[in-house]
Amino acid sequence: MLTDCHMHTPLCGHAVGEPSEYVRAAADRGIAVVAFTCHIPMENEGFGQAGNRMRRDQLPLYRRLIEEARELGHDFDVTVLYGIEAEVFPDERELTVMDRILADEQFDFVLGSLHHPSTAYRDRLERQGLTDDAAIIRRYFEDLAAGAETGRYHSLAHPDLIQIYDTVTPFAPESYAYEIQHFLRRVRNAGVCLEVNTSGLTKSVFEIHPAPIIIEWAAELGLEFTLGSDAHRPESVGQYFGKAIHLLRECGVTRYRYFERGKPVTRDLPVFYSE
Ligand SMILES: [Zn+2]
Ligand SMILES: [Zn+2]
Repeated sequence: MLTDCHMHTPLCGHAVGEPSEYVRAAADRGIAVVAFTCHIPMENEGFGQAGNRMRRDQLPLYRRLIEEARELGHDFDVTVLYGIEAEVFPDERELTVMDRILADEQFDFVLGSLHHPSTAYRDRLERQGLTDDAAIIRRYFEDLAAGAETGRYHSLAHPDLIQIYDTVTPFAPESYAYEIQHFLRRVRNAGVCLEVNTSGLTKSVFEIHPAPIIIEWAAELGLEFTLGSDAHRPESVGQYFGKAIHLLRECGVTRYRYFERGKPVTRDLPVFYSE
């Protein structure tokens, strides 16, 4: 069986298709479990508002949409999980409202994302006087590791997102092998998974996030993985999962995880998947 634990709803303002359509797409592709993970409401404008994420007063609607999708899932043998894509950010003061939402909602699954193109993060880099790529790349992996250690998140979404969106020039992960491996050890020790996110194949890097070499290091270090398409439209559910599975298998990975009511469920990675 397969799970896709990263997909959006139109509430974020940049995704299309009703959750029910995502469930049908999952059923068509033989995906047995999906977790919706729309972008969490944030208070500060620096994280973007309309067009980036739902408002806080839309949370009950989000909950209801996922509940309806869950009902529909029964007819299609697709288990629907209630998740959220939360923000990783190095200043705790920005996360108080988010923390209240995480405490109040009964999420099955919490993804952690450090969205470095946000003005909140870029302004912070600037205030810290970090201008050269090497310093920014080190800081990014440091901030992401520290985020994992807070215990808020079950898995880190698209962990090498710093490769895209022009905060730095794309780089060879091998040039930062020491830093990235240190980051991976901290994530492993915190008991947090790494997401294999196939949306990178549709973006400028044309690679899975994280890059294959990072998946290889993570596998050697014994990290656990979740799988996510980061679908912002129904057609993208399970996109390139065949490639992801092939890559993970090549790295010796034989299992993956998803989360239900915050508890990890471990499953065997299929040997082959045609999509
Ligand atoms: Zn999004
Ligand atoms: Zn996402």
